[in-house]
Amino acid sequence: MPGLPMSDRANALTDSLPLKIAAKAKKLIAEGHDIINLTVGEPDFPSPANVKRAGINAIEENFTRYTPASGIPALRKAVADDLKKRHNLEYTPEQVVITCGAKQAIASTLLAVVNPGDEVIVPLPGYASYVDLVRLAGGEPVILETVEEEGWRVTPNALRAKITDKTVAVILNQPHNPTGAAWTPEEVEAVGSVLLGKNIWLIADEIYQTLRYDGRPHRSFAAIEGLYEQTALIHGVSKEFAMTGWRIGWLAAPHPLASAVGKVQSQVTGSPNAPAQKAALQALLDSGPEPDEMNRAFASRAALIGDLLAEVEGTHLLRPEGAFYAFVNVESFLDGREADGFKLDCSMSLCEWLLEKQGLAIIPGTAFGREGYVRFSFAASEGEIREAVKRFKAALSSL
Ligand code: PMP
Repeated sequence: MPGLPMSDRANALTDSLPLKIAAKAKKLIAEGHDIINLTVGEPDFPSPANVKRAGINAIEENFTRYTPASGIPALRKAVADDLKKRHNLEYTPEQVVITCGAKQAIASTLLAVVNPGDEVIVPLPGYASYVDLVRLAGGEPVILETVEEEGWRVTPNALRAKITDKTVAVILNQPHNPTGAAWTPEEVEAVGSVLLGKNIWLIADEIYQTLRYDGRPHRSFAAIEGLYEQTALIHGVSKEFAMTGWRIGWLAAPHPLASAVGKVQSQVTGSPNAPAQKAALQALLDSGPEPDEMNRAFASRAALIGDLLAEVEGTHLLRPEGAFYAFVNVESFLDGREADGFKLDCSMSLCEWLLEKQGLAIIPGTAFGREGYVRFSFAASEGEIREAVKRFKAALSSL
């Protein structure tokens, strides 16, 4: 009915562009079209057998009721133990809040720390949800632009320049969606140190921490001397264990923040999914230090797509160092020329043309806050990656 109220908060949100294009690609595939779909931001591997078994057992044992709002004690402890093992970080289980995916950990953290008008620094290009989540919490996103020429790094000076007396938080993500950049331990140290001693939270989205291909270790922001007290460390099982649909993530943070996020979560969702928590627990308990089959596959795909895309004339990219994305500059093709009735004047129209006329689904850079680029996900088989780049190359060279 017209006139029924809708909040400014909801009206200000943008629809997720990646989801729209991915949905269109899926529809075309369902209709029988020959489409290579490299839009997806999730591993193409099934959840591991031990994880599935643990979820099934939990259901059969009737572990299907509400759990404590911040998660079952065994999983909170397993996360704390994992942080100790991997990063030598000391967290008590009470400092860990289990959430419905890493995305909710970020949302609840913002709801816990942002007052109306507060500023949150968000580097772009970046994960599409950050800006909207800051707005949803009543905050003002302050955009920090990063560039390919600097390896998509946030530099200490650039970060310093964005800090004002209204800044309450900075969201840093690495390994990075959508650019595939993964910082060195020294880079992490240098950027994190800018925040040391300031009354600013660092929301460290380290969801891709085990997916890196540069041979360098992952240095967590929380491990920087002195920064632990200011860091909201975000991780989860979605990417590392191919468990996107189970919806389990977490936050590890100093006591006051963990308890505030726990309160937000208890009001918003009650508790995370009970059997999924058991499945996530199993994933953590059984995980070893060695890269598994999925990790090795992603490493060889990263090299493959980097090699193949480097051959596409008129484009350039930072070779993927982590996560499962390649972010390719296509600016030289976006001069408004016509192709099959499409006016190629932005990355969105290029992607629409590639999907409809060339059977290739990839995501425009504007979905991540950067025009002139497109994102390939390499969470796909080597055969699909080869075919995708072949279509991309043929399409661009026909222009
Ligand atoms: N952060 C980043 C950078 C991501 O790419 C994603 C998933 N695409 C998330 C967070 C959300 O993870 P989850 O599925 O656990 O909510």
